[in-house]
Amino acid sequence: MTPVVRARGVRKSYGDTEVLSGIDLDVEPGAVACIIGPSGSGKSTFLRCVNHLEKIDAGRLEVDGRLVGYREHGGRLYELREKEVAAQRRDIGMVFQRFNLFPHMTALENIMEAPCRVRREPKAVVRERALALLDRVGLGTRGDAYPAQLSGGQQQRVAIARALAMEPKLMLFDEPTSALDPELVGEVLDVMRDLATSGMTMLVVTHEIGFAREVGDSLVFLDGGTVVESGAPGEVLADPSHERTRAFLSKVL
Ligand code: ADP
Ligand code: MG
Repeated sequence: MTPVVRARGVRKSYGDTEVLSGIDLDVEPGAVACIIGPSGSGKSTFLRCVNHLEKIDAGRLEVDGRLVGYREHGGRLYELREKEVAAQRRDIGMVFQRFNLFPHMTALENIMEAPCRVRREPKAVVRERALALLDRVGLGTRGDAYPAQLSGGQQQRVAIARALAMEPKLMLFDEPTSALDPELVGEVLDVMRDLATSGMTMLVVTHEIGFAREVGDSLVFLDGGTVVESGAPGEVLADPSHERTRAFLSKVL
C-alpha cells in the first residue's frame, strides 16, 4: 500500500538555520502517527511542509503517492501552479493549537464555509453533512452558537468538524490541546480517538503521551530537526533507545 505520507530526507532551512535536517517518516493508510519533541525541534514546520504551507529545500515528500508541490516529468521536477497546489491541499485537513474559527460565523457556518465556497457544493447537501459532523463531535445542539459563546474545547471540536467537512484523506493536528484548560483536553482527545477508530489517517503533534500510547500506531521523537527515534509507542515510551528521548520523556511524563 502507498503510504499517505512519505518523507525521505526532508530538509528545510530558514535563512542559515536548518530546521529540518533530513526527516524520514511514513504514515500508512488508516494509521495514526504521533510526533513528540521539544519546542523548536521542527514539529510544526514539518506539518506545514506536509500541508503545502512551506516548501522543502531537499529530499522527497509525498502525500497519497503524489509529490507535494511538484510534478515529476521525464525525471525532472516542475513546481505546481497555485491552482494545482490548492487542489492537492483540499485532501488535507489541519487543526491548529489556536482554534482559528471565523469569529463572525456560527459553528454551523464555519463548518459549511469551505465546502460551499471552495467546492461549490449545494448548500442543502453541505448543511446535512455539517449537522452530522456537529453531532459526531458532540455539539449537535450548538450549531447556532458563535465561537465566543463556546468553550475552548467546544471550539476545537468545531475546528475538527470544519476540517472534516472537506472529506480529507489526511488529518494533521498541531498540538490541538495545548491551548486548552486541562479539564477541556479530554473532550477533544475523545473526538480524535473516535476519528482514529473510524479509520482516518492522522499525523498528530502532541504532548499528550497517554493519547500517543493508546491511539498512536507509531511515535516519532523529533529533536533538532531530526528523527531521533521512532517505533511502536509502547516500545519507545517504555524503553527509549536514546538518551535524548529519555531526557525529554522524563520531563513530560
Ligand atoms: P516546534 O513546532 O517543534 O516547536 P517549529 O517547527 O515551530 O518547532 O520551529 C522550529 C525552528 O524553526 C524554531 O527555531 C523556529 O524559531 C524556527 N522557525 C519556524 N518558523 C520560522 C519562520 N517562518 N522563519 C524563521 N524561523 C522559523
Ligand atoms: Mg509547534
